Amino acid sequence: MFIAHLPSGYLLTVALAKRLHQVPLPWLMSAGILGALAPDFDMAYFYLVDQRQTHHHQYPSHWPLCWLALCAAALIWRYLAPHSRGAVLAWLFGLGGILHLLLDSLVGDIWWLAPFIDQPYALFSVPALYQPWWLNFIVHWSFAVELAIAGCALLLYRRRSCPSRPASKH
Ligand SMILES: [Zn+2]
Repeated sequence: MFIAHLPSGYLLTVALAKRLHQVPLPWLMSAGILGALAPDFDMAYFYLVDQRQTHHHQYPSHWPLCWLALCAAALIWRYLAPHSRGAVLAWLFGLGGILHLLLDSLVGDIWWLAPFIDQPYALFSVPALYQPWWLNFIVHWSFAVELAIAGCALLLYRRRSCPSRPASKH
């Protein structure tokens, strides 16, 4: 997934914002969007430290278990401290991470059962027909899904930024 993570975090946050109204919207937006991007922050380690030796989806930052554990910990935190905004933000951040892995799983390998089972899962595969490698993803139908997610987020953003005024009688 190339361009859909940020807009997917925006859509996730908008979808949940009314239920989480006790936390200011900018904080929610930051948590939801950062969570949706966060698993790919491991690219820094991939390029700068690991020298591309390991598929970055094999790092703990792309393990569903880590993100599910974060969400579970946030829910326990919320249970113990019902008015904690930090718990809400941590939960939304974790949810963004899970959404990231779900979207990655469309055409990218995700080790859903890591670290217990070393087996990647992807819903669809992208045939390696062109060079450079990323061109294969751009011309694959799954990129239309990414564009649709980005388009939906953009439309929603514009509608929320410029709400239409009620029609005047004069
Ligand atoms: Zn990713």
